[in-house]
Amino acid sequence: MYKSQMLINARPVASLSGKVDIIYNPANREPVAEVSVGSRQDARMALEAAKKAFPAWSRTSCQKRAELLHAAADIVRERSEMIARLLTLEQGKPLKNARAEIFSSADVLDYYAEEGTRNIGEWITSPHSRSIVLRQPIGVAALITPWNFPVDLLAWKVGPALAAGCTFVAKPPSQTPLAATEFVRAVSDAGLPAGAANVVHGPGSEVGAELVENPISRKIAFTGETKTGRWIMAHAAMHIKRVSLELGGQSPFIVCQDADLEAAAAACSQRAFSNMGQICISVNRIYVAEEVAEEFTAKLVKRAEGLKIGNGLESDVDLGPMFSEGQREKTREHVKDAIEKGAELISGGLEPEGDAYEKGYFFRPTVLGRADHSMRVMREETFGPVAPVMKFKTVDEAINLANDTEYGLAAYIFTNDLKTALCAAEGLEAGGIGVNVNNVVELQAPFGGWKQSGLGRELGHYGLEAYLETKHIRLGL
Ligand code: NDP
Repeated sequence: MYKSQMLINARPVASLSGKVDIIYNPANREPVAEVSVGSRQDARMALEAAKKAFPAWSRTSCQKRAELLHAAADIVRERSEMIARLLTLEQGKPLKNARAEIFSSADVLDYYAEEGTRNIGEWITSPHSRSIVLRQPIGVAALITPWNFPVDLLAWKVGPALAAGCTFVAKPPSQTPLAATEFVRAVSDAGLPAGAANVVHGPGSEVGAELVENPISRKIAFTGETKTGRWIMAHAAMHIKRVSLELGGQSPFIVCQDADLEAAAAACSQRAFSNMGQICISVNRIYVAEEVAEEFTAKLVKRAEGLKIGNGLESDVDLGPMFSEGQREKTREHVKDAIEKGAELISGGLEPEGDAYEKGYFFRPTVLGRADHSMRVMREETFGPVAPVMKFKTVDEAINLANDTEYGLAAYIFTNDLKTALCAAEGLEAGGIGVNVNNVVELQAPFGGWKQSGLGRELGHYGLEAYLETKHIRLGL
């Protein structure tokens, strides 16, 4: 069986306790790998290693750091097939999506290699002095990530942290640590100083908590649930640490009367169901102008029913299993709650039948009609393949409904009218607005949440700034 150890000081290491855990494939519940499980003590060792490596790495020129980051991206691409396969085995997503995730992670490293060379300061002239403004690396960063995109979301942190001159300790999710650890190993193998890139495994409540609470880490970059983000923010406050939080979402998708309904249905289906709805910017709620609601819903259902479900290792599979029984059960509960409160089950709503689906956590893409805001599926983050549809009369009403949530990560609108698009985009309370597109992730642009969806931004030059401190040097004349 594949064995996954932690990475400290550029060396694979078992946990001090020797404890191991088994990772299971969500498509058939078969064992996939044995993984070392660390504790607070292992986390402290990794933090010490990162602290020791910081002076040399932070003083390395940004050109040299760029060279190493490009080399790291090349190694990730060379090993992409192996890493992608591990990702599918541990997380369930189709192999084609896993491959795309690994290549996109390599692109992130290439992007930040160059962005790091543009970390320029300022020169200010005053009557009796001159001021130099420097942007320097914060220090050791703790990078804590979830299971839905274990590699990509880590790359969003590893790239800018290293480019800025920070060293790091990554804590991948306990149930999907395999591909993320291989990703960091590939980065480390590019020739980074030992200790610049470390990985510890183990429970968030223990290993993650140590990374947050230990004074060695100066920066916490976290992606995960809002409630974990709240805990991290509160505990990071003990040392006034810098935090970036990418948290939960409940993204609305508005379809106006004048929209291209075919394009809207295709985009909506893709963003509601891909990765089995387990994406922070998944479409969670659909608001459709009442005049076109029936036509749009029929198109959406046709798309949903055309998706092929199966083991992610099979070719041509569009959707793998859900990640865990817990996720599937939550999805079932949200569907049941909606139906009890008056929603119409139009498609899906249960597991697919057949031997191939017997052991895995499969669930059919689900479309619900007559949804309203009394239903959990319209208020909470389902993190499952459910698309509830609600009709609206005016675009203002749709915007008010869209904003009626504690979350504010992404929002989408489909319309062919420029004024409607702009006014809606300005009125929607979210960090990313997709107008006639179903994705608000763009490597060069900021990504992050409003309200309880997060704090700070990743990607683009904003992503780099999250790992830099500002220093003012005043020279008296
Ligand atoms: P969790 O918050 O449960 O876990 C995320 C990570 O935090 C895991 O590595 C976990 O470790 C760790 N962790 C748990 N408790 C602590 C703690 N007290 N201190 C430090 N670390 C801790 O999220 P999920 O893994 O369930 O991921 C799903 C969530 O992630 C969804 O809410 C989703 O919306 C959100 N997400 C947000 C994105 C965004 O960009 N805004 C993108 C993708 C997902 P362990 O695995 O051991 O529990």
